[in-house]
Amino acid sequence: MALLEVRDLTVEFPTTDGLVKAVRGVSFEVDSGETLGIVGESGSGKTVCTLSLIGLAGGGRRGGQALFRGQDLLTMSADELRAVRGAGIAAIFQDPLSSLHPLYRVGWQIVEMIRSHEDVSKAVARKRAIDLLGLVGIPQPARRVDDYPHQFSGGMRQRAMIAMALALNPDLVIADEPTTALDATVQAQVIDLMVRLQKEFHSGLIMITHDLGVVADIADRVLVMYAGKAVETAELDDVFYHPHHPYTKGLLESIPGASGTRGKLRPIPGSPPSLIRLPSGCSFHPRCRYVMDRCLTDEPPLMDVGAAHRSACWLPATLSGLAEGTEAQRM
Ligand code: SF4
Repeated sequence: MALLEVRDLTVEFPTTDGLVKAVRGVSFEVDSGETLGIVGESGSGKTVCTLSLIGLAGGGRRGGQALFRGQDLLTMSADELRAVRGAGIAAIFQDPLSSLHPLYRVGWQIVEMIRSHEDVSKAVARKRAIDLLGLVGIPQPARRVDDYPHQFSGGMRQRAMIAMALALNPDLVIADEPTTALDATVQAQVIDLMVRLQKEFHSGLIMITHDLGVVADIADRVLVMYAGKAVETAELDDVFYHPHHPYTKGLLESIPGASGTRGKLRPIPGSPPSLIRLPSGCSFHPRCRYVMDRCLTDEPPLMDVGAAHRSACWLPATLSGLAEGTEAQRM
């Protein structure tokens, strides 16, 4: 059994304008030591899909099953979920101040996190906080442990948040756009750090991002989401060299530096649909350059297009021109 097995997950939010279908029947699994990249534009459902599992997506009606170490997260009480958060599943966010309180010293916050889940003395927890800050590359951790978050640079705050996420040695880490707010150099350092720590801790990792370039550096498998659905899922190399879904291809063409763009980015035209009023048939059809009559009426399910490679598109791989190897390449 995988560390996390999500089956046919749905998440809906009733609003005065109608029902927001944020996640529509998504399935995936993650094992220890494995990284799953979940990729899509804003509004694709990628964040709701994962954070809803640990009660951090603002409520909503959830359906399906999410077995973590064999127990269904979707049927747990608030107290049971609180116990899972931290020690079982930890989250890292784009904004470190969503995890680090600006008014408390960084080290104190890590100590409190440890002591809220484990019966250890303050001295022991403080020693662990210093060790963790050192592990994530904070210079002079024994001195910086008493700094406030605003005394850290953006990259250091991100590292401190990673230290906090790892404080209880979680089995699974969910990282939601953890490097988006950082400049390219710091972003690369933080990604390297996450790769190194994941190997060391042998945890599972879900990396949520809008940028396929980020998952190229870190993921084993990729799940591409559009309008609340999984539209393509495959091993990393298949996504980059043999993408099937036109949306995946569009994401690849919008990576700066991808060779097929010949220096020019080709953004996907249009914007994601309203999750209240979805287009008929394939939700991507208003933006798809390969659209056919059938796409306007029939919604494609995820179908096998290769070994461990599935795509929700009616285009046959042989006719799509997409299976010959994408123009874009991993950076
Ligand atoms: Fe495009 Fe049709 Fe495939 Fe949808 S099913 S992605 S509209 S070709």
